[in-house]
Amino acid sequence: PSSKLPDIGTSIFTVMSALANEQQAINLSQGFPDFNCPEPLIDLVGRYMREGFNQYAPMAGVPKLRENISIKTEKMYGCRPDPDTEVTVTSGATEALNAAITAVVKPGDEVVILEPCYDAYAPVIRLCGGVPVYVSLALPDFSVDWDQVKRRISSRTRSIIINTPHNPTGAVMTKQDMDKLANLIEGTDILVISDEVYEHMVFDGQQHYSVLQHPQLRKRSFVISSFGKTYHTTGWKVGYAVAPPVLTTELRKMHQFITFSTPTPLQMALATFMEEETHYRNLPDFYQAKRDFFNEQLKGSRFELTPSAGTYFQLAKYDKISEEYDLDFAKRITREAGVAAIPVSAFYHDKTDHKHLRFCFAKSEDTLQAAAAKLVQL
Ligand code: PMP
Ligand code: GLN
Repeated sequence: PSSKLPDIGTSIFTVMSALANEQQAINLSQGFPDFNCPEPLIDLVGRYMREGFNQYAPMAGVPKLRENISIKTEKMYGCRPDPDTEVTVTSGATEALNAAITAVVKPGDEVVILEPCYDAYAPVIRLCGGVPVYVSLALPDFSVDWDQVKRRISSRTRSIIINTPHNPTGAVMTKQDMDKLANLIEGTDILVISDEVYEHMVFDGQQHYSVLQHPQLRKRSFVISSFGKTYHTTGWKVGYAVAPPVLTTELRKMHQFITFSTPTPLQMALATFMEEETHYRNLPDFYQAKRDFFNEQLKGSRFELTPSAGTYFQLAKYDKISEEYDLDFAKRITREAGVAAIPVSAFYHDKTDHKHLRFCFAKSEDTLQAAAAKLVQL
């Protein structure tokens, strides 16, 4: 049969993690922690399983989890979405993104996406018959050139996808960015899909500015987050979407036929665990310490680092070490130096290479130190 995505291969995360495993290299490529999630959270899963929470969860998500997401949203962003009509629990942010895109994109619709960008947006747009319209973030700081975005908006633009804090660059959008976005789409029916999975990882005293804090944007946005990032449980695949009732209704129509619902004991455990705010309140310090440690260990290396403003990723420019294409360089250092990273060209539709690798610092200090010791020798 002819492929619906002929140009799409295996994701770079799978490719680099497999190579890291094969080479027994230190894996700073795919984004996931190498330390365990909190023990009490694990205990809660066991408790809820034993108590019999092992059957289908309600389609929209366990009520207590939706309620607690709503409360957290109010504490963080000053707006309290209605748990019944505005909050939907999904199987990871990936599913929420899929459901949001599928809910709004019709054949011929254009969707603006900002590159480099996460790999889960464009293929889904295309599967809906939509057309991804790419705008590059501005080097060297990967800020958004809103004039450029404006030029790419047309009468066919259905949506714009933003991601802050940003994977892979660590860039963080400001309130001014959100104001510009709001001005840009005022008077249109363009919807925003805001990928905020790294909402609790912003450093140096800066704050994450959520679309949920912006009344104009909030009215026409899907805001997506992931418990995988916040609670060190990427393998659980629990995420959620917050959107106004009309958008939530459409998103749930998709969700009920993608997965229908998300594992009940995991939702129950997260619902209870998130009532204590300390974990996510401490997350910026927790990850900033790792970023700083990794950056410090790389002092004297020929990689050029601009400390990441958010996420658990650090970009490193390697043009003083090699002129190789970034994918080739990433594969070679996995084999020869024993450290795996993600080549950033994978986040551009035309595989543009700016000689950047992305390192994940969601790792123990031992892992980061061992990796850095190898990288400084390059
Ligand atoms: N969006 C971004 C920007 C991500 O980095 C990730 C995780 N790699 C996701 C979405 C997907 O999150 P989840 O694992 O919860 O599906
Ligand atoms: N979000 C993770 C990353 O950016 C990867 C998730 C995946 O492997 N699909 O590394």
